[in-house]
Amino acid sequence: MPENLQEIMDRAGVYRFGIVDPKDVDFSETVRGYCEENLCRQYGKTWACPPAVGTVSECRERAQSYGNMLVFSGKFDLEDSLDFEGMGAAMVEFKNISQRLDDEVKPYLSDYLLLSNEGCGKCESCTYPDNPCRFPEKLHGSIEGYGIFVNELAAKAGMGYNNGENTVTFFGALLY
Ligand code: SF4
Repeated sequence: MPENLQEIMDRAGVYRFGIVDPKDVDFSETVRGYCEENLCRQYGKTWACPPAVGTVSECRERAQSYGNMLVFSGKFDLEDSLDFEGMGAAMVEFKNISQRLDDEVKPYLSDYLLLSNEGCGKCESCTYPDNPCRFPEKLHGSIEGYGIFVNELAAKAGMGYNNGENTVTFFGALLY
């Protein structure tokens, strides 16, 4: 990765970041079980989520084929803890941050994998499962869908999971 990492993160709009060894990350069937409960209503809806991303073992293997995992976050203000509209807008903005980070690192990395938070949302209607993804080069698998407890990952990376009252923080990861 380039030396100007902080500048890259700032340009992408990343709040905090930290680097962990993917081999130290737990890929959990328990988290996958939460996906299957489908409370987020994304399970089986896009190429970015289970079951399309593969089994937890396949996700672990894919992630651990890289030597580094740069965990990044986006922090957003809410009007109050029931500001669902604000949370939805924050989720969209975090996707934009993830895409900007992808665009920023592309010139430096020949092989990498970028995970974002739940779902995809790039297209009005996803092609899953009938046709291939329209934008495979911009497809960011769901970090939760990979079986990762994001709060544990944040702690491992030395990052805050909760960042103040009336805020929400989302997490993604760049494997390289
Ligand atoms: S980019 Fe479009 S087709 Fe691909 S997973 Fe996302 S919504 Fe589906």
